[in-house]
Amino acid sequence: MSDSRPHSPPVLVFVELTRKCDLACIHCRASAGLDNNAGQMDRNRIIGFLEELLNARKQKFHVIYTGGNVALYPDLTGLMQETKKLGLSFSLSPSPSAAASSQFITDAWKHGSTSISTSMDGLQNTHDRIRGDTSSFFHATRIISQSSRAGMPVQVNTLVAQETLADLPFVFRKIKSLNVPVWELFFLINTGRGIGMTDLRPDQMEDVLHWLVHIRKSIKFIRTVEAPFYSRVLSTPCSMIRTGPLFSYLTGITNRRISPDDHERGGIRSRGRTLFVSSEGEIYPSGFLPITLGNIDEAPFSKEFQEYISHGFSISPEKLEGACGSCPYSVPCGGSRSRAYAYTGNPLESDPACIMTGLAGGITNGFHLGRGAENDGYKMRA
Ligand code: SF4
Repeated sequence: MSDSRPHSPPVLVFVELTRKCDLACIHCRASAGLDNNAGQMDRNRIIGFLEELLNARKQKFHVIYTGGNVALYPDLTGLMQETKKLGLSFSLSPSPSAAASSQFITDAWKHGSTSISTSMDGLQNTHDRIRGDTSSFFHATRIISQSSRAGMPVQVNTLVAQETLADLPFVFRKIKSLNVPVWELFFLINTGRGIGMTDLRPDQMEDVLHWLVHIRKSIKFIRTVEAPFYSRVLSTPCSMIRTGPLFSYLTGITNRRISPDDHERGGIRSRGRTLFVSSEGEIYPSGFLPITLGNIDEAPFSKEFQEYISHGFSISPEKLEGACGSCPYSVPCGGSRSRAYAYTGNPLESDPACIMTGLAGGITNGFHLGRGAENDGYKMRA
């Protein structure tokens, strides 16, 4: 690989250590469970890959160890020590369960994890139903509190789907009360067990993103995953903003006065470029986009992989198709390639969850996103 290439993406490398998990969440991308022993790379294989990637990329990157449940990976201490020796920063993303014990948190901090992220998808009933365990909400709260007490920065991840929508403002209030600095919202991609869950409609996506713009100054950092059109929402002039009943519901609960400068840039980001390594060693652009770039045991890395680490996934505007291809926001946004792939099988197609795809005569009508407005669950809670 030529040294003159820009070695920038990816900046976040996710490594799925195991598909074993003591939860069985209904949206799990990895279809994880206690009996799932698919793959499980040993420490040397993982460290060997990270070293190769470091050599190929010539720039450091951040590693996120995920699962399954990372707390069930048998050689976690050794892995953390070796990652640190490589000079790479890393963080852990345990499932909200008993396995992420107080000792697990202490060890993570002691061995150099820069942060911990865990999930809270709703208040207790919603969260525990989605996670399939009546103690999961308790453990999510415990992991957040114990990590904060240990001095370790905490990130809370929340799934955004029809099934969690009504709880979103209550989760925001809860994590504020727990002093969580970073909130990452995962907008559903119908993959893995998540194919049984329901996306927001484009109008609901708009309302949620406008709401995030309004609350973003009340928390240190908000990050969206698979909703890159937040950048279009942020740049919408106030006079052109049209919000719906969901926005009123959300702002009614979080109760923050709306001011004209809410739409200044900043405060929300989309997760940057990523690389995802499955527990079987397959490499993907993300955990939600199952287009393989090769395997970590391949030497030298495949042409596709080398291209990816040099340039990122092919999201240059001229390559996009459908409404995203002709959209004026294709440069800052570009749409979710994972959602386009999940709905069409073509990662370059339009993102059907964006309101612009419908406005542009795009593909929204061909898909069944969300339910009819008359059945909106949040109306019952409003
Ligand atoms: S149409 Fe595509 S590129 Fe344009 S704002 Fe929507 S998702 Fe982004």
